[in-house]
Amino acid sequence: MISVINDNSIKDPYRLVSRKNHPEDTVVEVPVGKTGKSKKIGGGHFALIGGPCSVESQEQVLSIAKDMADYGASFLRGGAFKARTSPYDFPGLGKQGLKFLKTAGEASGLAIVSEILSTDDLSIFEDQVDIIQIGARNMQNYSLLIEVGKLKKPVLLKRGPSSTIEEFLMSAEYLMKAGTKDVILCERGIRTFETATRNTLDLSAIPLLKEKTHLPVIADPSHGTGLWQLVEPMALAATAAGADGLMIEVHNDPDEALCDGGQSIKSERFKDLAKKVNAIRQVMVDSHKQPENMQEGRDKIDEIDRGILDLFEKRMALVDVISQLKAGENLPVEDLAREEEILEKVAEMVDESNLNDAKALMKSLFEISKNRQR
Ligand code: PEP
Ligand code: MN
Repeated sequence: MISVINDNSIKDPYRLVSRKNHPEDTVVEVPVGKTGKSKKIGGGHFALIGGPCSVESQEQVLSIAKDMADYGASFLRGGAFKARTSPYDFPGLGKQGLKFLKTAGEASGLAIVSEILSTDDLSIFEDQVDIIQIGARNMQNYSLLIEVGKLKKPVLLKRGPSSTIEEFLMSAEYLMKAGTKDVILCERGIRTFETATRNTLDLSAIPLLKEKTHLPVIADPSHGTGLWQLVEPMALAATAAGADGLMIEVHNDPDEALCDGGQSIKSERFKDLAKKVNAIRQVMVDSHKQPENMQEGRDKIDEIDRGILDLFEKRMALVDVISQLKAGENLPVEDLAREEEILEKVAEMVDESNLNDAKALMKSLFEISKNRQR
């Protein structure tokens, strides 16, 4: 008897997106406008995409774009053509909105992500948008997938709220078969019996998709929950689950947003979220994977340095607390027994080959801390 289930010669129905035929992670390299620069997603390149649900004015997107760039995002999102459930809701600013986005992208250096609704708009999206988004509601709009795929531009494909993993991958296959190599998959919540949240963010989809496909997988905890309070915890969970990036709705004044205000966070919260995401990324970074070139190696070092500095700030804040406590009890700043204790623990924490350097690092931290306390 031939085992059908284990027969590897039977190919996945989605052959271009399947990892079986392409074991290496795909790194999607997105050209930023006509600057000659690019931004990457996948294969260790983590991407933060932030911005409003819909573009509302030039000032709005300019100010959010500046914040996003300052806080570590590499992409600006913003809907110009909005797929609204009600035909009476704000449909977006259309072509004008795309222009505002493009201007904000040029001012901030961010690449632009925006959703296309109709094949009527192919040429303007080809010209003005860096990543073309196909929204959840259009995931199985096959004629749209084919026409967008033919442009050979990077595409961000959102999972339909009632679609299976296989259907999702089949839609990505349509895009690739039509011509694009650069598809980013986005888990954005599925419809379940639960009504307390807008959707149920399917976190298990992230590692599962990454097993089945070489394409980058990102998560959208804004649409995935519908509640701004849940955006950060789910963003962190998605990062820990192995996502290659996050798409977050950020608004300057969520209470007055024309679309999805209840799930939008302000820039300051995005800043905090980005810091925490980066801390989780430290754990996720595969240090055994050799960088392919100097730039890639330096990007990784920069990511780690951000984490080190963030922890350094936390450590110094605690040093200040300890300093107060010592003063209250009239204890001296220097405590050599305590230093010895820490250095002994270092030996258990690091590899033999790093022990001396790690001890030297800790000793200089002790000096910095003591100077500050004095
Ligand atoms: C969006 O990202 O603006 C959007 C409408 O999302 P979704 O298609 O996932 O509902
Ligand atoms: Mn939205």
